[in-house]
Amino acid sequence: MKIALITGAAGFLGSHLCDKLLAKGMSVIGMDNLITGSMSNIAHLETNPNFSFINHDVCKHITVEGRLDYILHFASPASPIDYLKIPIQTLKVGALGTHNALGLARAKNARILVASTSEIYGDPLVHPQTEDYFGNVNTIGPRGVYDEAKRYLESITMAYHRYHGVDTRIVRIFNTYGPRMRLNDGRVIPAFMGQAIRGEDLTVFGDGSQTRSFCFVEDEVEGIYRLLLSDYHLPVNIGNPDEISILDFAQEIIELTETDQKIVYEPLPKNDPLQRKPDINKAKQILDWEPQIRRKEGMRRTYSYFKSLTKEELKKVEHRDFTSFKT
Ligand code: UDP
Repeated sequence: MKIALITGAAGFLGSHLCDKLLAKGMSVIGMDNLITGSMSNIAHLETNPNFSFINHDVCKHITVEGRLDYILHFASPASPIDYLKIPIQTLKVGALGTHNALGLARAKNARILVASTSEIYGDPLVHPQTEDYFGNVNTIGPRGVYDEAKRYLESITMAYHRYHGVDTRIVRIFNTYGPRMRLNDGRVIPAFMGQAIRGEDLTVFGDGSQTRSFCFVEDEVEGIYRLLLSDYHLPVNIGNPDEISILDFAQEIIELTETDQKIVYEPLPKNDPLQRKPDINKAKQILDWEPQIRRKEGMRRTYSYFKSLTKEELKKVEHRDFTSFKT
């Protein structure tokens, strides 16, 4: 039985990866310090004999007993609101946390897959984004703490591959959505769905002409799994190329939720990328992967998840403070 360590296991993607690897017959050790993750995402695994959990901050030395075959390094705040609230932790987990995870992979002779992001392309000047595009990131802008942490993650991963011969994989994840996203994480899908459920107007930032391409979590996790098992060590985009403007997307949400919410406009956050769409030819060729779930179906499933949350959970949604975001 293969043994995998997943850092960030109590997060949105981490918890779905736990489910995936367990379903594939692996034994999984989940690790999280619960800053942005939640035990409720992995509560269903508590009685699974092939799953164990360690509460640990990966910025500190990581100790795991026994053999490890795979490490999936997914620990990091990942929404703009989170990394603005905890910018230093975001930089540290991308740098120190990744260094520790790579050191562990080297010590255990394990294969490591690290989670990078479309944010490394910044506000892209190439569209759609191919893996050989170097990106357009403002190092000192509000998003710089995340973007540069993830760019460093890629660099140190390649250095461990080249200089220590560590067996590495790098996935560049584009906007992903689905059940277990936090309703208050500030990202556009939970934001719009939460607003629809609470009967509030939908807040479109800017004029809504900026685009995103949303991938359902089940597709994303399948792509990551295939990359883990592949022998390809350069970065691979995993995302859904079905691009939509945020304004059109708000209208889709109004139709889906069958509410009569109005759209209100708020200022566009600083350095908010104007367009984003993955070129997934590499994933198609190397992994024989492409998304299967259309946005309508994925959104329907995600909305029923949010609607199933209790009133207490819905109330927890904080007022989003964008003050520092917009300066
Ligand atoms: N957005 C919006 N209203 C919201 C939240 C986000 O219009 O209430 C916009 C945001 O400005 C961005 C897009 O939706 O252009 C996606 O934002 P998100 O935070 O989900 O992720 P990003 O792709 O920017 O990292």
